Amino acid sequence: MVDLVCVTFCVCVSSYVAAAVALDQETNVGVRRFEVCDNIDLEMVLMEYESYHYVKFQKYPKLTRRAAEPGTGAARSHPLPKISPSQSPRSGNGVKRTAAGVNVNTMSTIMKHPKYAKISSYLLTSNVCLLQERLLKPLSGFSGVNGEMRDLAAIISRDIYLHSPNVRWEDIIGLEDAKRLVKEAVVYPIKYPQLFTGILSPWKGLLLYGPPGTGKTLLAKAVATECKTTFFNISASSIVSKWRGDSEKLVRVLFELARYHAPSTIFLDELESVMSQRGAGMGGEHEGSRRMKTELLVQMDGLARSEDLVFVLAASNLPWELDHAMLRRLEKRILVSLPSSSARQAMISEWLPPLNSTGGVELRTELDYKTLAKEMEGYSGSDIRLVCKEAAMRPVRKIFDALESHQDGDTDMPAVQLETVTTADFLEVIAHTKPSARSLMDRYMAWKREYESV
Ligand code: ADP
Repeated sequence: MVDLVCVTFCVCVSSYVAAAVALDQETNVGVRRFEVCDNIDLEMVLMEYESYHYVKFQKYPKLTRRAAEPGTGAARSHPLPKISPSQSPRSGNGVKRTAAGVNVNTMSTIMKHPKYAKISSYLLTSNVCLLQERLLKPLSGFSGVNGEMRDLAAIISRDIYLHSPNVRWEDIIGLEDAKRLVKEAVVYPIKYPQLFTGILSPWKGLLLYGPPGTGKTLLAKAVATECKTTFFNISASSIVSKWRGDSEKLVRVLFELARYHAPSTIFLDELESVMSQRGAGMGGEHEGSRRMKTELLVQMDGLARSEDLVFVLAASNLPWELDHAMLRRLEKRILVSLPSSSARQAMISEWLPPLNSTGGVELRTELDYKTLAKEMEGYSGSDIRLVCKEAAMRPVRKIFDALESHQDGDTDMPAVQLETVTTADFLEVIAHTKPSARSLMDRYMAWKREYESV
């Protein structure tokens, strides 16, 4: 039935009535005895067929081809403009580009093409720059600019970072092992692709797991910055929210875009919210969620078999809740642990140095970094940052009265001196700010023992 619907869908573009009659006569299946159920979404049927084709042949099927001019046998006029290598999105500098790096001249030539007249007028009145890029290399099943695709493109454009996330390796304090493993798995294959062939072909899926606030997102952003990959940052909430029913389309469009912009990194944050063990949860699993998971697995399989430089970096705070089929596809699993004592010390001295000038106000500190690092065992990087912020806030709080009593209308700041932040102040803040994830550490270690893959 699915094939039948697909065939019907494809031929209905031109003279579908004649085609249906021919189909009925030639196949002898009695098309008239069937009708399409009203719960069938043709786009979904097409997507499933395309996914199947992609997994099997590593390419999407070609469903339409240009018809010959009646009488002449020649191909229709208006050939698409060729895109020379110098116009490719990843070519050198000096060329004006869209936000995602597409040559603006190439775009405008294409947009003038009669084939895209309707779409150009839509784009002129909208701000969906991602759709413009799809036109350079239109995707089968993604050519229509209907309301649904518009919404999907809007969601993805809101959730991806088109520009470099701007996190350098040296911005990440500690985590030396995790950095080394991530570099080995993703950075070097992009830098030295000739080395990573055959048995050394790059890993396509990486799981960064560990307590919240330990630098998993930073690691993913550093990969994108250092390798200049396109960074797609998809949080669970954007996938499962109100797009639940259509989330598999979102996943599909996301991977298409990633392949198009390769080398790319897809960062799936809070993976457990989208890929928890299937069938788990009260009252069974939502159909939309099951389909979305399947689409994610299909896309991961597609990546594993392809040569595309597209990497999935997934992060999870609760790895034990992850679906096993997904775990298998995340071949490298790296624990991003709580910071060590020396990392904690480095963090405090980075965020609260002896002299810190912000906005023209000087903040001085006299801190015994070693003692404080010892006291902060079990705190995550983000906990430590929070404590530093609170400690810095204390002397600022004390000058609010002076600022408030300052004469109205006088915009100049009164000359106030901030008190120095001392070790005792800092210890007091620690006493009132508890670590957020210390208690789970045993569980992470136990999971590591069982599922380690580095
Ligand atoms: P998660 O592991 O939950 O993805 P993030 O990478 O988002 O954590 O880190 C949250 C914040 O905590 C960062 O923006 C940064 O300020 C701070 N942080 C956590 N770990 C580190 C680290 N190793 N080096 C520097 N900053 C860190």
